[in-house]
Amino acid sequence: MKRAVYPGSFDPLTYGHLDVIRRAAGIFDELTVAVLHNPAKSPLFSVEERVKIIEDVTKDIPNVTVDWFTGLLVDYAASHDISVSVRGLRAVTDFEYELQVAQTNRLLSQGKLDTFFLTTSLEYAYLSSSVVKEIAEFHGNLDRCVPPSVEQKLYEKFGHT
Ligand code: ADP
Repeated sequence: MKRAVYPGSFDPLTYGHLDVIRRAAGIFDELTVAVLHNPAKSPLFSVEERVKIIEDVTKDIPNVTVDWFTGLLVDYAASHDISVSVRGLRAVTDFEYELQVAQTNRLLSQGKLDTFFLTTSLEYAYLSSSVVKEIAEFHGNLDRCVPPSVEQKLYEKFGHT
């Protein structure tokens, strides 16, 4: 049984994230999407809201579960018997940071946590949660960026009802 975790902020989930989730779920036996709760940051969506959004959107994928964590990913992975972290790569700009995180996780876990990279599907290469939030703030069209339920929640956050 190969278990993997897909950690991230997911503030909020985009079609880019969903594409990585679907593809990773096809590769691993079990995939946990783990929402990072970082008390030092002020996200647009609370950790509970982010978990609920991902649960709703992934309910048709049987081997995906959603959880949240705080602190180090290596500690979360060790306590859940997970040996692979999944991350998405959009462009070369993601690579340097992701490489650093992957090496650090290997070091901290004494080789027990490896990182598995999926390159983005080209139609989502431009997508990030930050861009989505900017578009939502100005009530722009999000049809190609996020699922309809997420679009609705984003507009509500910015007072566009
Ligand atoms: P972070 O964890 O860095 O705060 P996110 O929560 O936005 O960032 O993203 C979690 C993971 O999903 C990261 O590996 C990121 O590179 C990847 N990701 C984000 N957007 C996309 C996308 N459009 N296509 C593929 N991967 C993506």
